[in-house]
Amino acid sequence: LLVAQAAMTTPNTSTGPLSLYVHIPFCHTRCTYCVFNTYAGLESLIPAYVDALCVESEIVAGGSGSPELHTIYFGGGTPSILTPDQIARIILALTTNFRIVDGAEITLEANPTHVNAAYFRAIRHAGVNRISLGAQSAHPDDLRLFNRRHSWTDLVHAVDAVRAGGFDNFGLDLIYGAPRQTIQRWADTLRRAVELEPAHLSLYSLSIDEGSPLYDWVASGKVKELDSDLAADMYNYASDCLEAAGYIHYEISNWAKRDSECSHNVHYWRRKPFLALGAGAYGFFDEVRYGNVDSPDRYVSLVLDRQRGIDPQLPEHLSPAVDAAKADHLSDADARAETMILGLRLLEEGVVRSDFAAAFGAPLEEFYGNELADLQCRGLVAVDDTRIVLTKQARLIANLVFKDFV
Ligand code: SF4
Repeated sequence: LLVAQAAMTTPNTSTGPLSLYVHIPFCHTRCTYCVFNTYAGLESLIPAYVDALCVESEIVAGGSGSPELHTIYFGGGTPSILTPDQIARIILALTTNFRIVDGAEITLEANPTHVNAAYFRAIRHAGVNRISLGAQSAHPDDLRLFNRRHSWTDLVHAVDAVRAGGFDNFGLDLIYGAPRQTIQRWADTLRRAVELEPAHLSLYSLSIDEGSPLYDWVASGKVKELDSDLAADMYNYASDCLEAAGYIHYEISNWAKRDSECSHNVHYWRRKPFLALGAGAYGFFDEVRYGNVDSPDRYVSLVLDRQRGIDPQLPEHLSPAVDAAKADHLSDADARAETMILGLRLLEEGVVRSDFAAAFGAPLEEFYGNELADLQCRGLVAVDDTRIVLTKQARLIANLVFKDFV
């Protein structure tokens, strides 16, 4: 019902172009830490899934007033499991149904296996202009623990193929804080990653979540979790190392060469609305955070049949794949808290005072005066006339800082 109420308001297009996330929930194999909505062995569903994405793009574009898009992000799962023709078909559908601004950032996540220069050339031709490669580690023991099927040599070949395919804008994802990882091993991964000169680096602290094989191994004592102080040392080491290599630490977990920040993710952190396509994909529109059904099978049948089986109260123009149980209409207090939490993740930009006041009709201090004074006193935020940012010492305990705004 909340979705229905919110979606019946006029879409607010005054926020500028939107972003669009496209979820590809297929992987060749499952990594041991993965709890994402993705499936191995479901490849036979991919052609119907691509059909459904094209149909859903038409429905969602119609429902949101065919907005302009300035970023598109193919995430997963493993989007590079799609053929170049399938990617081209989806981009053609998006181009037909939305207005895509000149120079829009179109990112595709790729695994270092099953790709070559011809593949990247073809998807570059289809319109993709940014690649995010899942590198994770240079050390074979880490890769084995994660059940990653590539070696560092495969990753180097994939980077060569990305460049030969016409991409100069690519990023690498790396994981630190893994069981048995040492600081030397992490330093070696970072050094080898920097040697490849990516425009962007995302460093993720390994999260051992319930439902993953790694969680069970830790619970049964087969694998020992890494000491959190050592993981913190790895983060600080990376921060110094990447700064020395000329990368800007623009978000808590992300570093980039100047002007190579991921515009799609910056859009999220600025709390701008974005649409979503695909099974289990999450969007944010008209102050509603919503998600599609997880099951790719169910998603395909709901979209292709244009059924409204989940909640007959959902308005006609919303995707038929939205799961009413995953829809949350945010209150003003939720919206303010999100603005603080997401904005503080952007380490240089922070929360911009004028944006906050324009969105909520009053200065920051009206809502968070005591919290900000306390955090400033403890050296965890820096405050000036234009913005609030996290201090360096707060980056490792950002989640504790964020609690003050909830
Ligand atoms: S490749 Fe990514 S999405 Fe697929 S199983 Fe591994 S971590 Fe999960």
